[in-house]
Amino acid sequence: MATFGTLSDRLVETFKNLRTKGRLSASDVDGTVREIRRALLEADVALEVVKKFTADVRERALSDEVNKALNPAQQVVQIVNEELVAILGGEQRKLQFAKTPPSVIMLAGLQGSGKTTFAGKLAKKLKDDGHTPLLIAADLQRPNAVNQLQVVGEQAGATVYAPEPGNGVGDPVKVARSGVEFARQKQHDIVIIDTAGRLGVDEELMKQASKIRRATDPDEVLFVIDSLTGQDAVNTARAFQEGVDFTGVVLSKLDGDSKGGAALSVASVTGRPIIFASNGETLDALEEFHPDRMASRILD
Ligand code: GDP
Repeated sequence: MATFGTLSDRLVETFKNLRTKGRLSASDVDGTVREIRRALLEADVALEVVKKFTADVRERALSDEVNKALNPAQQVVQIVNEELVAILGGEQRKLQFAKTPPSVIMLAGLQGSGKTTFAGKLAKKLKDDGHTPLLIAADLQRPNAVNQLQVVGEQAGATVYAPEPGNGVGDPVKVARSGVEFARQKQHDIVIIDTAGRLGVDEELMKQASKIRRATDPDEVLFVIDSLTGQDAVNTARAFQEGVDFTGVVLSKLDGDSKGGAALSVASVTGRPIIFASNGETLDALEEFHPDRMASRILD
């Protein structure tokens, strides 16, 4: 999992300074909130999220609701913990399935964000849970993408539906649509559609993804974002929200040297839940996302 090293250290250090206080004055609270603000900004959390977060923490720390059974430092830690859980999306949100199979899960995100790897991981997890997933290769932009999906599909033990003469070569929308039809005929209960990504947000790409969305009517559209993205995460997420109206977020590369900013910003800014954390290059490196566990890790 992401270390959140610096952020975690900074927050823990801030709370340590409070430990000796008998009760907190308004200036103690302000000082603490300032430190929290600095720590979050250094971790690349989006400014709008930092502002709201620190305002909420300040208001609650100064209010009468504080738990009298806890000392001042513990009170602040509890408030920060609860606010972290809130910006990470609150309750855990599980993957949603269709009432009538096949469920359609579409992936979207920038090139290199980890979509294809995640497609393999998700297929493996679903297989392990007793499903019969079909991977659909609708990323026809990158020359090697279909091949890469075939490799992860094989590792996951899942069938891959790829374009061949006759099933829509060159047209990702047709491939996606005929892939879903194929799943229906062959009784795959879930399809995972891998779509093309570009290095930056791109109108053509968005139009294509939006067409695939309309053509396949997915139960979930998952936006895969590289946790190492930094401040750009928010703009990228907003562009994809506008373009494909995703229903959930996958944080990838959480095993990397992420400062935590993307993770801590995207759910809050888009109002869409983080459903999975992808944390390694092997197919087993996938976890369901729990906002409360993530918050505890940060404050550990
Ligand atoms: P796509 O272009 O969005 O399909 O991205 P890929 O799935 O091809 O991933 C891009 C690179 O990131 C590849 O080298 C992957 O091995 C690597 N990668 C993907 N997910 C993870 C992850 O969770 N952790 C790490 N460390 N690397 C990852």
